[in-house]
Amino acid sequence: MDGAALKNGPKAPIMTPMMAQYHAIKAKAPEALLFYRMGDFYELFFDDAVQASAALDITLTRRGKKDGDDIPMCGVPFHAAETYLARLIGQGFSVAICEQTEDPATAKKRGGAKAVVARDIVRVVTPGTITEDSLLDARAHNQLAALVISGGGAAALAWVDLSTGDVAVDGLAPAAAADAVMALHPAELLVDEGDAGTDALRDGVGDLAITPLHRSYFDAKTAGARIGEVYGTATTDGFADFDRAELAALGALFGYLALTQIDAMPRLKPPVRNQTGGVMAIDAPTRRSLELTEGPAGTRKGSLLEAIDRTKTAGGGRLLSRWLGAPLTDVAAIGARHDGVSFFCDQPTARDEMRGAVAQAPDLARALSRLSLGRGGPRDLAAVRDALRTGRTLGEKSVAAGFGLPLPPLVSQAMGDLEAVDQGGFAALLGELDRALDTDLPLLARDGGFIAAGYRADLDELRSLSTDAKRVIAGLEDDYRQQTGIKSLKIKHSKVLGYMIEVTAAHADTMMSAPLKDHFRHRQTLANAVRFTTPDLADLDAKIVRAGDQALALEAHIYDELVGKIIDRHQDLCACADALALIDVATSLADLAVDGDYVRPRLDQSSAFTIEGGRHPVVERALAAGGGRSAGTGPQAFIPNDCKLSEGNVPELLLVTGPNMAGKSTFLRQNALLAAMAQAGSFIPAKAAHLGVVDRLFSRVGASDDLAKGRSTFMVEMVETAAILNQATAKSLVILDEVGRGTSTFDGLSIAWAALEYLHNTIKCRGLFATHYHELTQLSHNLQRLRNVSMAVREWKGEVVFLHEVKEGAADRSYGIAVAKLAGLPRSVLTRATNVLKSLEDSRDKGGAASLPLFDAGDPPPAIEPAPVLSASDVMLNDLNPDTLSPREALDLIYRLKDAREAPA
Ligand code: ATP
Repeated sequence: MDGAALKNGPKAPIMTPMMAQYHAIKAKAPEALLFYRMGDFYELFFDDAVQASAALDITLTRRGKKDGDDIPMCGVPFHAAETYLARLIGQGFSVAICEQTEDPATAKKRGGAKAVVARDIVRVVTPGTITEDSLLDARAHNQLAALVISGGGAAALAWVDLSTGDVAVDGLAPAAAADAVMALHPAELLVDEGDAGTDALRDGVGDLAITPLHRSYFDAKTAGARIGEVYGTATTDGFADFDRAELAALGALFGYLALTQIDAMPRLKPPVRNQTGGVMAIDAPTRRSLELTEGPAGTRKGSLLEAIDRTKTAGGGRLLSRWLGAPLTDVAAIGARHDGVSFFCDQPTARDEMRGAVAQAPDLARALSRLSLGRGGPRDLAAVRDALRTGRTLGEKSVAAGFGLPLPPLVSQAMGDLEAVDQGGFAALLGELDRALDTDLPLLARDGGFIAAGYRADLDELRSLSTDAKRVIAGLEDDYRQQTGIKSLKIKHSKVLGYMIEVTAAHADTMMSAPLKDHFRHRQTLANAVRFTTPDLADLDAKIVRAGDQALALEAHIYDELVGKIIDRHQDLCACADALALIDVATSLADLAVDGDYVRPRLDQSSAFTIEGGRHPVVERALAAGGGRSAGTGPQAFIPNDCKLSEGNVPELLLVTGPNMAGKSTFLRQNALLAAMAQAGSFIPAKAAHLGVVDRLFSRVGASDDLAKGRSTFMVEMVETAAILNQATAKSLVILDEVGRGTSTFDGLSIAWAALEYLHNTIKCRGLFATHYHELTQLSHNLQRLRNVSMAVREWKGEVVFLHEVKEGAADRSYGIAVAKLAGLPRSVLTRATNVLKSLEDSRDKGGAASLPLFDAGDPPPAIEPAPVLSASDVMLNDLNPDTLSPREALDLIYRLKDAREAPA
């Protein structure tokens, strides 16, 4: 094929028919890597090949030429494609899968020997549309979202979770778009490629996979037709009250699904509207700083989620992650979750039994999605069966336990859905699956052998045909041995030849001469063996093949029937999956609360923020696990601390001072985490808590460079601080940890000073501010609602001991040098630092208490005696001429320098 192109040379390139087909198909999915099916491989060409070979570390080869240049090519074997797909998707690529859509024989009939087999894209795999277990994180949601920011000041975010068929849409204020996206944290976000706001959005949402789509996808007018296609025209009336932005977002979502899923459009539930303002706004830097659902490495490790997740199922894990990623602001909705947890705290037996039962549940939601997308297999049928069994057990348990109390609504609804399983709602389906499925199940339906004996008489008959034939064949082996007198004769089976008779080469002549040669037909000669067949054996073989093919076809048919029965109950089964996940989360949060001595926080619309004996859930866990063990002292216990951020319903700010390592950051974050946990529906590690609902949570830590975005430490810090000062409200909680350190002392102090005043005077919110600028503690004289607290430290025999206790009042000094000593700085440096510090403090004190360094910027710097070590070496250095130095003299000099350095200061 490609030879033609070669012969024609570079001057008159004629594309081979196959390359023409390739280009036509590639044009349909230009953004994706095209996996072009050729026999047992998916091949990639041109730039796709270059990118994929680098991303997968596979060999780049050449195939034919285009315009005189080699065509780069690489390929992945079909049977291992999923592994490669996983790696490509993980690196942010999308992959279009192009299959042969007719068999080669049909192509030949159609267009002769040179005809190219028809091919087409059957699916585009993108981060937001995958459903395969091997490509997904079992405990993470995989949502595809579309964002519209229309010129008219309206915005909307729509999302679909292909694994559950859930669809939601939310109208938003454009300024809230980035926060809403972060709260959802979709696997892929669709945006309008022409939208000027996209770049700004990119900044706000971190490293999310963003797919720009052509403007036409976001057309509200054509959205109606798209929605009609998904739900059937009858239901589009129900969409009348969606506004243009919401319709456009839904339209883009469904348009993209049609583009990527081609024929296998998933079954989707009607879109629900989340109540706007229903979740706590948490922007990207805050999420990073608090590590709510992702730790420092971007995985669960080290996150709050990891520390508190005791769920038993993947579905439960995903639900908890959703709760924690998007804490609520509606007091009643939060209360409903707390009621559920509280119920299971009070019912230890029911809790343990339910947890034991729920642990048996497979991932029903994901199995359902694969089945409804036509990508499932026998094991997904088994998952439905096992989930229904679990549902039934749980339903029975709830009835048997009698619970003795009225169930809280959330639990009661979940139990209702599960009791429906128990009380016959699913009995027929469960019975059917129970009878139908065999014990060992293949991954793919086409492999057959998964329908149990006794389920279908016609299948049993086909199977017995081949079993009988195999028995007859086993008998034939003896007959043939006697007939030929060859004891080593065997009947064997090969994929290519089917059943055949095999003798060693030594017996070949006997078999091929009269009288045996009339009965035994020669089939094949190998190095050491010769193979034959007989009419009887060929007959039986054909029978087995026929029966086998028919059985496979019948099993495929039965599989489709079973899938059909499951799809008919899709909505109810999704409700069952949701109920299992909810019971899992409620019981596991209760388990955590009882085990970890957590308390139910009281939540209301006030400005209260009173936590008694609060603990940091992640640090506490690390210390308990031995993370804070110092030699011989055993595991270190976490020291609980109170936090009060309001007085008489008026918000207050706390200014936290204290040495490094004393626990300031821990204390700050702990309170932000507890607020998020409480509003997510969890109990919290504290003795008692009363919290007024937080509408937006902000947390900033003295920043790190964001070089990827071309910003310095200080710039990042200021951009983030600006975001807080512009967005925080009186209901917000603001945590600022050492903001302003990325610049010169006076600049940083001034900015911190002004920001604190602004939070206090203008925004009037609750907040915690940690600083090393001791000068700031003076502010409490002027700012009424600012209180100083500090981390308690004891000095013992010249060493600092951190008590990790928060006490009223400002820290007396910073102990920086003491901490440097703990860190092992050389003694001479410590001594020198102590002298410098003393000079600085003396010079400040001379200026009087009112004259803080902040206002001394113009004064000359204090005179500081040069260090003796330096002056000694300076003299030596001044006297010498490096060009005339012998090696020996240079070495001597180094010894002298070293001696001078180590001499007592
Ligand atoms: P820096 O100013 O250097 O950032 P810091 O004052 O913010 O220090 P943290 O990082 O919060 O100090 O805490 C240092 C360590 O002290 C923690 O890693 C933890 O092991 C321990 N620690 C903090 N708070 C407590 C506590 N309440 N109980 C027990 N250990 C604690």
